[in-house]
Amino acid sequence: MRDTSCDPIPATAPPAIVIGAGIGGLAAAMRLGAKGYRVTVIDRLDMPGGRGTAISEGGHRFDLGPTIVTVPQGLRDLWAACGRRLDHDVTLVPMDPFYEIRWRDGSKFTMCGDKAAMAAEVARLSPGDSAGYARFLRDAEARYQFGFENLGRRPMHRLWDLIKVLPQFAMFRADRSIYAHAARRVKDERLRMALSFHPLFIGGDPFHVTSMYALVSHLEAAFGVHYAMGGVAAIAAAMGRVIEGQGGVLRLNTEVDAVLIEGGRAAGVRLAGGEVVRAPLVVSNADAGHTYDRLLRHAPRKRWTSARLKRTRWSMGLFVWYFGTKGTAGLWPDVGHHTILNGPRYKGLTRDIFIKGKLADDMSLYVHRPSVTDPSCAPAGDDTFYALSPVPHLGHDNGVDWEAEAEPYRQKVVKVLEEQLLPGLSSHLTSSRVFTPLTFQHRYLSPYGAGFSIEPRILQSAWFRPHNVSEELPGLYLAGAGTHPGAGLPGVIASAEVLGKLVPDAPLRATLPMSLAAE
Ligand SMILES: Cc1cc2nc3c(=O)[nH]c(=O)nc-3n(C[C@H](O)[C@H](O)[C@H](O)COP(=O)(O)OP(=O)(O)OC[C@H]3O[C@@H](n4cnc5c(N)ncnc54)[C@H](O)[C@@H]3O)c2cc1C
Repeated sequence: MRDTSCDPIPATAPPAIVIGAGIGGLAAAMRLGAKGYRVTVIDRLDMPGGRGTAISEGGHRFDLGPTIVTVPQGLRDLWAACGRRLDHDVTLVPMDPFYEIRWRDGSKFTMCGDKAAMAAEVARLSPGDSAGYARFLRDAEARYQFGFENLGRRPMHRLWDLIKVLPQFAMFRADRSIYAHAARRVKDERLRMALSFHPLFIGGDPFHVTSMYALVSHLEAAFGVHYAMGGVAAIAAAMGRVIEGQGGVLRLNTEVDAVLIEGGRAAGVRLAGGEVVRAPLVVSNADAGHTYDRLLRHAPRKRWTSARLKRTRWSMGLFVWYFGTKGTAGLWPDVGHHTILNGPRYKGLTRDIFIKGKLADDMSLYVHRPSVTDPSCAPAGDDTFYALSPVPHLGHDNGVDWEAEAEPYRQKVVKVLEEQLLPGLSSHLTSSRVFTPLTFQHRYLSPYGAGFSIEPRILQSAWFRPHNVSEELPGLYLAGAGTHPGAGLPGVIASAEVLGKLVPDAPLRATLPMSLAAE
């Protein structure tokens, strides 16, 4: 049989709607297109990509969100399902090293894909931890096979799906936090941080999210860390072109006000301007909280009620400062593409952010300098950066007043950067733009301005997360960070793969012209 999924879909094919052109929504649209649906993707932003969009200012292109592309195979599989090759449409560059972690005492730890170099790096940082590190990596691989390849890529909406995997959860001590697991393997606090911080990139508190996330250490080592030339926005643009090539449509600058319900089923969407767009199959890539609280506000809800969503633990918010620097291309030669700059506290700071909801005076930063890899993001001789600081989301009591705090906090970020990473920064600054949790709330309609939707704690993961096939409304499906398996590019791409397993092929696909249907 020839794969017909790259052929344009006939105008008579059944329609489907995807609300949201985040990476998960675009991946869902590609999967549906490959199944023979005529897909309309609707997003309120002016370009596809959601958190993976970019803005340009003063010759700088700022990649707003994701920068680290792991598991490129997820993208390759997605493209292949659409009868295309990723490498024709997107250029992924392997990072070497992956990233550098720095502490205030001047010590550094460089992560890379070379096993021997990593063993030497661990031995240099903490000579007594070599055996424990090797064991951690073995743990990570086992958790990857189960947690990502098995659990993350299959539907999890039936209780039985969960019950079947409980023995493995018990065997892997999934109840233990990733930090606690790292602490059992290695003694050096810096190494414990280096092995346990990854959940912060998908919105989880390392002291509370499950040790299953050790799997990230394996997937980085096994498949590398990549950068998409042109930023993740270039991946999103390529996804948009695949969708249009399939006969789908992207409607941008268009907000969905509600899911249309007829006869107890999803029947399309009502746009903010009042227009109704009909389709018997609706996928929401909007945040799961927004989907249920806002888009389904007219429907009776059994599980994802407003009260339940209020009780849910949301991921942290993000303060992101995007800035351009003039004439710095040769400056700061030891600052690479990805740097993690630790503040004085790890546990105390995450506690302030996730539990107390307090904006601390100290901070840990992730610093992105894509201009060392991708000249297209800055004028010649200049640099493009962002500095990201995890902060409380907006739902805590006595939430942070970001209207008042944004500028003083930015100045604290500048001080930390000048003292520890980029001396003389202020005299080179050109462009500057700040995103706070308020921006996330307004731009992406994120509940509480959370950076990564629902926190991936164990009792908010897999079956416990909002399901890919809606519990509340037949004909409605979910793809993206707030559903199974969760946030991060590999997670949201996997959510579309799961969706592809749940949605049947479009009926008309079976009646495509003989020339298209078989070879
Ligand atoms: C600063 C930052 C850095 C990150 N770094 C990384 C990284 O390095 N690597 C990694 O793998 N992940 C990273 N992530 C996480 C990753 O970016 C996200 O988990 C992922 O992109 C979320 O995709 P999504 O499909 O859930 O949709 P989103 O990106 O959340 O997009 C949802 C879209 O839906 C639209 N929408 C919502 N409601 C409506 C409505 N009513 N009508 C119309 N449109 C609507 C929004 O406008 C938005 O475009 C990062 C995230 C952030 C914020």
